[in-house]
Amino acid sequence: MNKMHFKTRITIWFSAVLLIFFAALFFLITLINNAVLQQNVKGTLIKTVNNNLLDVEFSLTQDEPQEGTEYIAYGTGYVIIDRRFLKIESGVYSSLYTPEGNLLYGEDPSSEASPDFSDGTIKEVKIRGVKYYVFDRITNGGLWLRGVISEEESKGLVLSITKLILLIFPLMALISVAGGYRIASHFTAPINEIRRKADKISKGDDLSERLPVTREDEIGKLSESFNLMFERLEKNFEREKRFNRDVSHELRTPISVIKAEAEYGLDRERTPEEYREILGTVFEKTGELTEITESLLTLSKLENTGEKPEMYPLSLKDALKSAQNQTAKPTDKKISVVWEKEEDVSVIGNEPLLIRLFSNLISNAYRYGKENGVIKLKTEKADGKAIVAVTDDGIGVPEEEREKIFDRFYRAGNVGKTGGTGIGLAIVREIAVLHRAEIKCLPAEGGGSSFVFTADAI
Ligand code: ADP
Repeated sequence: MNKMHFKTRITIWFSAVLLIFFAALFFLITLINNAVLQQNVKGTLIKTVNNNLLDVEFSLTQDEPQEGTEYIAYGTGYVIIDRRFLKIESGVYSSLYTPEGNLLYGEDPSSEASPDFSDGTIKEVKIRGVKYYVFDRITNGGLWLRGVISEEESKGLVLSITKLILLIFPLMALISVAGGYRIASHFTAPINEIRRKADKISKGDDLSERLPVTREDEIGKLSESFNLMFERLEKNFEREKRFNRDVSHELRTPISVIKAEAEYGLDRERTPEEYREILGTVFEKTGELTEITESLLTLSKLENTGEKPEMYPLSLKDALKSAQNQTAKPTDKKISVVWEKEEDVSVIGNEPLLIRLFSNLISNAYRYGKENGVIKLKTEKADGKAIVAVTDDGIGVPEEEREKIFDRFYRAGNVGKTGGTGIGLAIVREIAVLHRAEIKCLPAEGGGSSFVFTADAI
């Protein structure tokens, strides 16, 4: 794993890329400069020589030239040289030669190598390691006008540019590193901020705290993802806490009854009838324990698990029929079940869960239904809604408790001695929520209650 800080890595990468870019750029500049300067040197040479060509006049007269002009006696006449003729101009040495190749006037650093004369072509000579460019023109009097420039002229300039670059380069390096560091800080600062806050939240006790989402970019999305994670963590944590609390609270009563019964049995010798009674109570209470733990586990699984159960189109009539078949009939009372309406209606849902929901309603109807009572089942489609109703003619639910009975462990005041855990309807509500359905407890005509499930029909 790379231990280097993200910031350091960005800085290094950024500076390296920038420096390589600068180095390549400087190299290119030097290369181009070299070529351009060389070209320039040759250009200067040609231009100076051609200019001077106009400033050398060959006079054939034998009259002495006027005062103020520079002249050289040559042959039978004079060579008059204008004052504008410069022996050295922009690094170009100019000189005049006789057709035989004798120096008449001016300076010629290339004289040692004495290159041949030729009109209008650039020649290159090397003297003691220094390269010279030589350019000759023939004047109208047959004299040679020679221009010479040293390559050093261009080299000097190239060298100064290279020096400048070498001076600038460390500065560039510094700017690159500083720039890289700034960019890295710019990108890592919000990430560090998130990390700091996330650390604080995960270390602290308060899981309800959230990261502020102030931007819409990737960083904002990251905060949102973290918040979603915290939300799920919090929900799971809460669920676990509640489950633990519920388990200890709900299991305490049956366990203490079992313990008391066992103590009573062990206290002294009992009659076989008494033992039978004790075992009967223990059996009943262990059954209750199983029911409570199973219901709690189901409820806990249904709540906020995050993963949605598989959903598909299914017939509500079939689900209700399956629930009817799977629900155990009471052994202590006679209750009949009738279908008052069985319309074919389908919803998108999870069949085992819906069967469980309806089965809970039917078993409640059995439990709170009256002796020789009737349970009415109904499936119908109305206004795009799928409706299932389970109606009994039992004890009913007092109006003010019709909502509360869906809360976990809530049991209405009129249940008397009828056993129960108060978890069944909480499971019913969770399953309904998962199906985006509504579940209501309504009073039934002539007493009893009607539990109505309403979902979107397809
Ligand atoms: P339990 O039946 O185990 O007590 P439930 O969650 O299934 O738990 O029901 C909660 C409460 O709602 C019951 O205790 C009862 O007071 C009331 N209840 C549920 N169904 C009916 C019904 N069909 N008739 C009358 N009361 C009901």
